[in-house]
Amino acid sequence: MSAIDSAVSTAPVIATAGIRKSFGGVEVLKGVDLEARSGSVLALLGENGAGKSTLVKIIAGDYRPSAGSVVIDGEAHHVLTPIESRAAGIAMIAQEFNDAPTLTVAENICLGRLPQKRGVVQWREMNLLAQEILESLEAEIDPKANVSSLAVGERQIVEIARALSSEARVLILDEPTAALSQHEADVLFEQVRRMRDQGKAIIYITHRLDEVFELSDRVQVLRDGDVALVADTHAVDRSQLVAAMVGRYDIVTGRPNDAAGDRGEVALRWREASSHGRFSDISLEVCRGEVVALYGKLGSGALEVGRSAFGLEPIHSGEIEVAGERVELSSPVDAVIRGIGFLSEDRKVGGAFASRPVGENVAVASWPQLATRGLLTSDTEQKAFERWYDRLSIRSKGRASQPMEELSGGNQQKVLVARWLERGAEALVLLEPTRGVDVGARADLYKVLRELAAEGAAILIVTSDHEEVVAVADRAYVAAKGRITTELPGEDITMSLLLTLAGG
Ligand code: ADP
Ligand code: MG
Repeated sequence: MSAIDSAVSTAPVIATAGIRKSFGGVEVLKGVDLEARSGSVLALLGENGAGKSTLVKIIAGDYRPSAGSVVIDGEAHHVLTPIESRAAGIAMIAQEFNDAPTLTVAENICLGRLPQKRGVVQWREMNLLAQEILESLEAEIDPKANVSSLAVGERQIVEIARALSSEARVLILDEPTAALSQHEADVLFEQVRRMRDQGKAIIYITHRLDEVFELSDRVQVLRDGDVALVADTHAVDRSQLVAAMVGRYDIVTGRPNDAAGDRGEVALRWREASSHGRFSDISLEVCRGEVVALYGKLGSGALEVGRSAFGLEPIHSGEIEVAGERVELSSPVDAVIRGIGFLSEDRKVGGAFASRPVGENVAVASWPQLATRGLLTSDTEQKAFERWYDRLSIRSKGRASQPMEELSGGNQQKVLVARWLERGAEALVLLEPTRGVDVGARADLYKVLRELAAEGAAILIVTSDHEEVVAVADRAYVAAKGRITTELPGEDITMSLLLTLAGG
């Protein structure tokens, strides 16, 4: 801690006192106290579903607590509206996107406080302002571009730029690095430290323990809606945090060795495939019985290669083979027919029907097989859901009728995997499958993927998260600048090598 920090970090700017919150009779926060101090970074940790996002949404005024209050400068508010929260200087970068996709990047960044002169919006000034903030984040994003045209990681950067540009005293970041490359994350950390040094109070939610130690002064762990630990970061170690967080899980470390050696036939193959301006000369194969990672940061072309397996990115030269047969994949339907299952990097736009029942989410791709007289009945949906519920350790109320959006991110991912398995998919292409998913649910998901591979599925994970590659892959390809630069056999996969290779 610097001298400035120790001088100012004792006064809480924002606190919560005895916050309780129930959804549909289930209590997800059970009396939570939290303090955010000025000039200090509080890391808020906890496994998936622990209640972190719900707690900060209450601070942001998005949810009303069932009991307890948010204390701002010593004054308790039981009811806090989003406007009051913002007026009190609280800015939040939510876990799920809050941007307005039809607006431009600059409009999003300046939303709510567009530079005006006598009631006329100063567009030029706005674009310049946005440009400046984006440059401070070393982001090469056009302020005039439409947000809907951006990749997930870029949208995340726009969200961050918006929060940084606001004159907040309290900045809440809910898993902000999930979609960022290592370099982008480093730049963000710099900005967070700068804001801390300016005396702002920061609440930083993450599931990555490395980030806790790199960034935070204090750490608070939530478990099942209760506070499991509050400490100065320098006073705790990794294992204490893991124990407080997860209890029943083993943390994922090291590469699994179990499936090594029994690779089956090639299920998916790219042969010198190129897509104009996206990737070139990609040769890559995924066999039955293995989990292969295609690792690359934003802009490496890795996501586009993944999308080409689902007919979402055209191939201009070279070819794709499925089960040894050359195929034209010009739409998702072509891919589904050939037994390919796919998870997009953004669940919201990529196939999770958020407001629909989980059972429907499982059954929807198997509609031709499951429907009776053209309709999916709730009974059919329940049965489809039950086929996968235990198998994939889906953590929910166990009812097919529960809306998808009530499940945590990791469990929504499991439901989407179930959708393709129900359809009989033998090859799965998963883009950033644990984006925004924390350690417990990640461990679950990795275990499920390992098991599916052991039973003969071919799995390709496209990811920008080096920890993910180490945790789950039998083999890895590294992509940079639209090309595959290296293929790594399992025994060569290490964090430091991956980071070095992807640096490009
Ligand atoms: P975390 O951010 O720690 O992963 P959340 O705060 O998102 O956890 O969720 C805590 C619990 O509350 C989970 O069981 C989740 O399913 C539930 N939950 C969150 N938001 C809602 C909602 N809008 N409606 C119903 N249940 C919800
Ligand atoms: Mg969350």
